[in-house]
Parts: sequence; structure tokens; C-alpha cells
Amino acid sequence: MHDFLIKGATIYNGSGEKPFVGSVSVKNDVISGVYKEDTELPGAHQTIIANGCALTPGFIDTHASTGFGYFFPHAADHKLFQGITTEIFGNCGTSPAPIENRLVPTMEKLAKNLGFTFNWRTLDEYFTILEKTGIQFNVATLTGHSTLRGGALKDWNSVSENELSLMKHCMEESLHDGSLGLSTGLIYAPGCFAETDEIVELAKIARKHGGVYASHMRDERDKLEEAIEETLTIGEMAEISVLVSHLKSAEKRNFGKIPGVLKRLEEYNQTHEQQAKIDVYPYTAVSTKLRAFIPKRFLEGGLEEVKHRLDSPEVELEIADYIIKKDYDMTQMLIISNEYPEWEGKTIYQIANEFSWTLAETMCEILKRDTEMWIVYHCINQADIDLAITWENAMICTDSWSHPINAPKRIGVPHPRSYGAFTEFIYQYVLQKKMLSFEEAIRKITSMPADYFNIKNRGRIEVDYKADLVLFDIEHIKPLATYTDPCVLSKGVEHLWVNGVQMIENGVISDAVPGEIIRNEMY
Ligand SMILES: [Zn+2]
Repeated sequence: MHDFLIKGATIYNGSGEKPFVGSVSVKNDVISGVYKEDTELPGAHQTIIANGCALTPGFIDTHASTGFGYFFPHAADHKLFQGITTEIFGNCGTSPAPIENRLVPTMEKLAKNLGFTFNWRTLDEYFTILEKTGIQFNVATLTGHSTLRGGALKDWNSVSENELSLMKHCMEESLHDGSLGLSTGLIYAPGCFAETDEIVELAKIARKHGGVYASHMRDERDKLEEAIEETLTIGEMAEISVLVSHLKSAEKRNFGKIPGVLKRLEEYNQTHEQQAKIDVYPYTAVSTKLRAFIPKRFLEGGLEEVKHRLDSPEVELEIADYIIKKDYDMTQMLIISNEYPEWEGKTIYQIANEFSWTLAETMCEILKRDTEMWIVYHCINQADIDLAITWENAMICTDSWSHPINAPKRIGVPHPRSYGAFTEFIYQYVLQKKMLSFEEAIRKITSMPADYFNIKNRGRIEVDYKADLVLFDIEHIKPLATYTDPCVLSKGVEHLWVNGVQMIENGVISDAVPGEIIRNEMY
């Protein structure tokens, strides 16, 4: 007897092939049968009449962040309602492990601020805790380069031989514990202070154990092309497959650069076995920390130092020059922290006017109060995003941390992509603009990421594959999260299974925690 029989669905198997009408059975945690129309169907404890609705593999979010959200109940509801059944965290240079000595105080502080217990050092220890806690969906991680640096380096500007070997040892150990590769965040401290060679050294270790290299590149603005070249150099020297994280060309003067970037990646792929791919989110605004918009050297020596430094009038003048030189459009940069209602939802420009401050003064005042301040910045061209998303080697991401419904205020306010990137992707690109067929859209968020990250037995509807499944009426899919009201669940996912456990039934979420940790199987 099977556990579930999903009868009469339009089955998109994840490969990009045309759909067919049929049925799927589930037993324990796997797909136990796939049946074409007119085949005799087996018995099951529970039968779901699909009425021709779309049945697809569970979606894979290639790019989530920290991995600290899982300690809160219902941390992944907002992703499950987008159809996501697996996420890869540890992106943009930051992962929850391995934690070396120098990073312990930072972690203790973070744990206190966010409200979780920090009691691990290695990735294996972190995974063990996660398994005991229980997770709603499947997770895998990359190893963050900034996490390695923060734990090993005394001075972020110079790396001694001993420090480099400690980082390499931690990288190796992490891969052994299950990491899928290396991630960098080269606009964030301390990753931004690293030379290319250091990254190549670490990427070589990832490559040796079947890992990938995912990069939030050094520049997504005026020096985008140089940043792409650095990423490809790392790919070539380490012979590793690269993933350009959340590809974008920000600021008006850089609009229209994406066609050239994609052409360069295609040329690279023609001559390299280890391919370059990208992930993208379907929005024209970014979400990041305000401190990414001041000169990097002001971030040296830790964040407490930054606060003192910002008190100096000379520093303020330099920031004023910097934002003019970088041509940041402060009328498009919104504060999204709900801890400061006097600023929330307002642009830097509006706040400056309201308080009679200069733009640089406004940035300094905000950062002195909170160096962790998050902003939303409208700075991406729609045509560029359209091209990137529809590129054959593009996957889709939320670029978001797990954000529990009713999360404590201190966790911060998310970008709407947290609650809506995947539903927005289907709604906008399949239903509204008709730029992608539904089967191709599904391939980008199922088999393609599974293949890229070497995740076995997921991302396809096939017998013996893990039963991560989504059943929905495609016409009913709708993202509801907005920039001003971002914590609203997406609509349309009627039924969803994670490892054969039904997590959403008729639009209602279960309290179960059937998620598994996906470990590197190439080590
Ligand atoms: Zn990033």
C-alpha cells in the first residue's frame, strides 16, 4: 500500500520536457510510482484528486543566507508557500560554521541579539544541532569565505602562512562535514580585503571534493566586468564550476551591461569543462546593509570601531565625496528596519530633508545608531533582469534568510523576495510576460540546481527520487509580498510534500519537521 496517490495531475517532471497527464504515488520518503494516463493505479492510504493541476518537483532555492533562522519555529513557512522544499544557505561569504576562535565573540553577540543558543564550532556539530531541532524542509550549505577569514585572521589586511593554513584546514573539514563548496561576499568585510590568490587556494580545496564556487562579486556596478573576470579567473585556476550570485548591474549608468556579461559567460562555457552559471531574483531593488555604501576602509577593525570613526567630521566629508563619486541615488534607498519607526520606509534623501542633515550626515547618524541597518535600493534595470532570468544557465534565488512569520523585531524586515521570489518568477515570467514556458521555468528551479550542486535524487519526478512535490493550479499562483508589506505569504500552492510528508494540505501548513540535511556526497 502506498501512502499517497496524486491522481490526474499535469506532471512537469523537472527536466524541461513537455508535461503529461498522469498520477504519482509516494511511499515513505520517496516517489514510488509515476503512471501515465489509462494505467491501472495502485491503492494508497490517501488519494488526492489533482483535477489536472500542475505537479512538479519541489523547488530548490540556490541562494539563502545565514542559517540562523532555523532555530525559530515555522522558520520556512514563507518559502514552503512559494513551493520551495530545499534551500542552500551559507552564501555571500557567511556560513554558520566552521567557527574558529576569533569569531566566537561575534557569534555570541549575534546569538544573544537574535535569540538562539550558540553551541557549535564545526559544521558537523551545527548540522547535528539542526537535526535535533528539526527543520521544515531540506537544507544544504556552502562554506563562507568571510566566516573562514573572521575566524582565522588577526589583521584582515594581511594573511600569514599559518592563518592561510588554518583557513584551508577549516575549508577541508567543512567539505568533509558536508559543505557543497565555497562562497564569497567580496563587498563585505572581512572577505573584501582578500586577494584573488587566497580565494583560488580555498576554491581548489572545494574543487578537490566536488564542490562549487559561488560568489557575491567584488563589484556589481561600475566594475562589473572586472568582477566577472575575477570570478572566471578563480574558476579557471581552481578548475571549479562558478556561480555568479544574484547577478545584477546596479545604478542607472550601468544599465544595459547584462547582455555583454552573458555573452562573456557563454564564451567561457564554450572553452571550459567546469561551467559558469548565475542565479537571479526577479526584482529591480536590492536589499543589503547600509554600511556597504561607505568606503571599505572605514569598516576595518570591527564594527565598534566603525561607530567611533563616524563621529569625525573628516570621515563624514569623505563619505560625502564617496557617495557623489559612486553616484548613489539616495532618493531610491529606503530604510527597512522596524526598530526605528522615525526612519522606516523613508529614503535617505527624505530623512536628510526631515532632519536637516546632509546625505553623508544622515548615513553617519544612521550607522552610528545601528551598523547592521538594512536598506532596500531600487537600482536595477528591468530589461537586464529579464535577460538574466531567461538565460539558459540562470537559476532563481530568494537571496534571503529564513524569516519566521511573527519573527521578533530584532530579526529585521525582509525584502519581498523572501516571501515571493519563486511565485513572482512564475507569475511574472510565465503568466504575465510569457517569456518562459512553464516547463522551462520549472527546470530552472528543480533539476538544474540539483544537477549543479550535485544533489542526488532530488529535483525530478522519477521513481525512487525523494518525494519533494508541489501541486498547484498555475493560474492561481500569486506573490503578495511588497516592499512596504514584505511579510505576506504567497498564494497558490495547494499541496506540498517534503520527503513524503505532506507539509501543505489544501493551503494549510503542518507543524511537521521532515526536512533533511543534504551533505556533500563527493567527499
Ligand atoms: Zn550577496
